[in-house]
Amino acid sequence: MTIASSNGFNASDSTSELNLTSTIPHVETRPDRNTHDGREPNLQPPREELNDEMMNAVRTLLLGVGEDPEREGLLKTPKRVAEAMRFLTGGYNQSLEELVNGAIFDEGHNEMVLVRDINFFSLCEHHMLPFMGKAHVAYIPNQKVVGLSKLARVVEMYARRLQVQERLTRQIAEAVQTILEPHGVAVVMEATHMCMVMRGVQKPGSWTVTSAMVGVFQDDQKTREEYLNLIRHQPSFI
Ligand SMILES: [Zn+2]
Repeated sequence: MTIASSNGFNASDSTSELNLTSTIPHVETRPDRNTHDGREPNLQPPREELNDEMMNAVRTLLLGVGEDPEREGLLKTPKRVAEAMRFLTGGYNQSLEELVNGAIFDEGHNEMVLVRDINFFSLCEHHMLPFMGKAHVAYIPNQKVVGLSKLARVVEMYARRLQVQERLTRQIAEAVQTILEPHGVAVVMEATHMCMVMRGVQKPGSWTVTSAMVGVFQDDQKTREEYLNLIRHQPSFI
């Protein structure tokens, strides 16, 4: 069994020589299911030429809330907000293939690998307000393992999109399933949502926990319990 905590992660991946990436012809994940009448979302690559319109939209927002976009403190705010939004949604620019990039190794390892306490920050798609917390990602390899820091990167890629926590959890599990074809994947995410804390029900201290279990984690209660025991702890993010 391998357990890692993502705190203080450095980027050094597993050290094996054998690179199996070439055996993965193409990595696809299931498209987002949050569609209307089965219509596929019309996602387009981020467009630089919309920068001015993004900044104008921020100016409109400022006017809408009764601010003066021309006062000194706000002059550069539209530019900053547009840049921040591009950064926080940078996951749209990444693909699983690029991200894994050769860090899959044949270790003949078949014991549970768990990386717990992966901090993540995302934006809820309903309010575009942050939700944040910790992810615990485990899998039971079928020979192939991936560099441990890559699991944190997978979490980050999907977190940096407009999300709902349930879909984010499922996408991470499916991504690990796709790249490693392991015996099973388990993902638990614990998060606090600013749209609940700062507005709406205004309940600071409430945590939302979501899980996605694939393969043996779904089928075998003992494996699932072992995983849940390993991640049991008090969330300490805030
Ligand atoms: Zn929300």
